[in-house]
Amino acid sequence: MAGAMRPLVLSGFMAAGKSTIGRRVGALAGVDWVDLDRVVEARTGRGVSDLFAALGEAEFRRLEAEALESVLAGGGAPVVAVGGGALLERERRLRALERAVVVTLVARPEELARRALRQGGRPLLAGADGAELERRVRGLLEARAEAYAECHATVDTEAGDEDAVAREVVAVWRRAPIAVAAGGRSYAVEIGSGNVGRVAAAVGSASRVLLVTDEHVGPLHAAAVGSALCGLGPVAVVTLPAGEREKRLEAVERVLEGALEAECDRGSVFVGLGGGVVTDVCGFAAACFFRGVAWVAVPTTLLAMVDASVGGKTGVDVGRAKNAAGAFHQPRGVVCDVALARTEPERGHRSALAEVVKAALVGDPALFRLIEDEPEGILAREPEAVEACVRRSVAVKACVVSRDEREGGLRAVLNLGHTVGHALEAAGGYERWTHGEAVALGLVAAVRFGAALGVTPRPVAARVGELLERLGLPVRAEREELVAAAELIGADKKRAGSEVGMALVEDVGRVVRRRVALEEVRGWLRGGGEG
Ligand code: NAD
Repeated sequence: MAGAMRPLVLSGFMAAGKSTIGRRVGALAGVDWVDLDRVVEARTGRGVSDLFAALGEAEFRRLEAEALESVLAGGGAPVVAVGGGALLERERRLRALERAVVVTLVARPEELARRALRQGGRPLLAGADGAELERRVRGLLEARAEAYAECHATVDTEAGDEDAVAREVVAVWRRAPIAVAAGGRSYAVEIGSGNVGRVAAAVGSASRVLLVTDEHVGPLHAAAVGSALCGLGPVAVVTLPAGEREKRLEAVERVLEGALEAECDRGSVFVGLGGGVVTDVCGFAAACFFRGVAWVAVPTTLLAMVDASVGGKTGVDVGRAKNAAGAFHQPRGVVCDVALARTEPERGHRSALAEVVKAALVGDPALFRLIEDEPEGILAREPEAVEACVRRSVAVKACVVSRDEREGGLRAVLNLGHTVGHALEAAGGYERWTHGEAVALGLVAAVRFGAALGVTPRPVAARVGELLERLGLPVRAEREELVAAAELIGADKKRAGSEVGMALVEDVGRVVRRRVALEEVRGWLRGGGEG
């Protein structure tokens, strides 16, 4: 079973049960498992405590990182139990999250202290027992809380016997969710076909659940989600009018009023079931309600799956200004069931493929080739093909968001194609082009502009245009539209004085950020936007 799967990394505090569960998981899945300490010992020919004492912690961590690297590269057992300090360094942890399924095993501090005392041999707890031992355990756990929270799933080792825990771990491994690492606000994006039942686990505990949907999606899918949630108690439903025109403060107010009517409190969880409009409104309402309650996204359009529901940007339009009021508010979890998107209107599905192509350009050349090889299956919405697109696009976004949650810099690469795209969308009065169609035109503009600047190789620019065309997306805007768009460039939040930040393609899978003189882009567009 481990063949095509990412390796499994068992992490967590000392004495959390990593080796015990590693052994059980290995037996259950019929695969080898290994302790990372043993890998380090095999590679150095020295015992771990000897290495730690002789070389110091920093050098030991370096050796440990090399050993983990070899395991993640597929050299060895697919299941690895790592030491409590192995994933404390953030970049190392993020790489593990991207290449493996990381499960954090947890137990109460008093139980961890009890187990550590029984097992002995823990240098960081040496000489302590009783209340002092527990105090030290609590202190270390507090200091490491964010690191341990950045994982694909947390499994409580006290909740069941070892076999039950191992089965739960194997189930996470098989589902292989994508992790968005955001310290204590980290969460998993579950992706599958027919997996909407996962929504109850994503909600976890809730004093009340408020299901927010719209008038198109509600009749199609609210019953399935409602029945998945019914074990959590009564579920109140707010149904919003559908469409971008409705993404306004009034919609947020309706959700808040619905929450008050349903007697929601700070322990309530909002569930947004719908396209990007619903998830943006639901997330923003959750950020506002009693100054912030938890929410879960259940996206039902391809765009909402690959983009809107992941990353924690929520908000509404104000006047003609898109997303002018909003908040960063990460969901507690995201459940992408590609079967729900089968009822999405055709134009929406096709438009969203522009964002999938963007994700491929930003960070996944294999995804780009996959679309080139199989556009028909993706257009025909074959579940496996769509699932692969969602999985890989979400992974690219998660990778960027985990390194720049609040768009301090890096996250701007996700705006590839959006500088000109937004301007074209606005120039068309938000009616001529869907957002995705405008992004397709924006991607063509970005690679042609990049080619004109000498950043994008011309064959790459041609490949991008050809792929978008094969997906049935627009690749040519009228001259008048480009002229109109030139005036609107940078009218959004990405402008700084006389310059505009643009993401440019160096190669498929490699995007750079550049500040470009606004007049240069405008002049180029007015001239017809050729590469
Ligand atoms: P949408 O939510 O308006 O959905 C499009 C239409 O399809 C609506 O009429 C909706 O009712 C209907 N629909 C949705 N799912 C359906 C289904 N399964 N079956 C039948 N009908 C269905 O539009 P969208 O394209 O999903 O999202 C666009 C919005 O997402 C924009 O407002 C955009 O700003 C936002 N967005 C947000 C982010 C973010 O990071 N927060 C990122 C990208 C886009």
